[in-house]
Amino acid sequence: MRLVLVGPPGAGKGTQAQFIASHFAVPKISTGDIFRSNVSDGTDLGLEARKYMDAGDLVPDEVTIGMVKDRLSHDDTSEGFLLDGFPRTVQQAVVLDDMLAAHDVGLDVVLELVVDDEEVVRRLSGRRTCRRCGHVWHLDFDPPATEGVCDRCGGELFQRDDDSELTIRHRLEVYADQTSPLIGYYGDRGLLSGVDATGPVEDVTERAINALRRFGD
Ligand code: AMP
Repeated sequence: MRLVLVGPPGAGKGTQAQFIASHFAVPKISTGDIFRSNVSDGTDLGLEARKYMDAGDLVPDEVTIGMVKDRLSHDDTSEGFLLDGFPRTVQQAVVLDDMLAAHDVGLDVVLELVVDDEEVVRRLSGRRTCRRCGHVWHLDFDPPATEGVCDRCGGELFQRDDDSELTIRHRLEVYADQTSPLIGYYGDRGLLSGVDATGPVEDVTERAINALRRFGD
């Protein structure tokens, strides 16, 4: 199965991507994760990407597309993949179509996680990440026992620069301007399937897997 996951920041793409990829036994390719690991390794790509990520802007297409082309050239993607966070612009979508067409394949489905802006702000502004083990807590939904301290390892919790309320509002604008045109792009091609991404994580996963069942299993 060749699958793309789209949705605004905070829709739960990363979490759902993990469950869906393991259910259908395909590799999960998350451009945000690849950028973040480059940032923490201090690579040139990471230094370049960080400026945009911290501001809540998209990393330029030239950088992102090269990185995805490289990742999709690995053998583990030949039977399928789940893309989380790519494409995020129509230009990226066109390049992806061309890349796949060059191998005589195409996307099977684009799953949209649907959630409104206020829910996104509530979810993201409460997120706190452990500096030591990377675990993500939430002030409302999954708070640590002691404020600012990770229950798992005792590490210090911090808020991602791109999770401040101002930056979240900006990321939502970027999504509306640059990414939401993908909904029409894939809708016109008959590839789009939408699921309600509110409520408990397990319920969203179940809805997503049900919506995808006819493409895989
Ligand atoms: P995410 O974890 O998917 O929310 O991505 C975090 C940040 O990485 C985004 O806010 C962008 O700055 C950058 N990023 C991730 N994927 C892309 C993409 N496909 N195109 C441009 N920038 C991206």
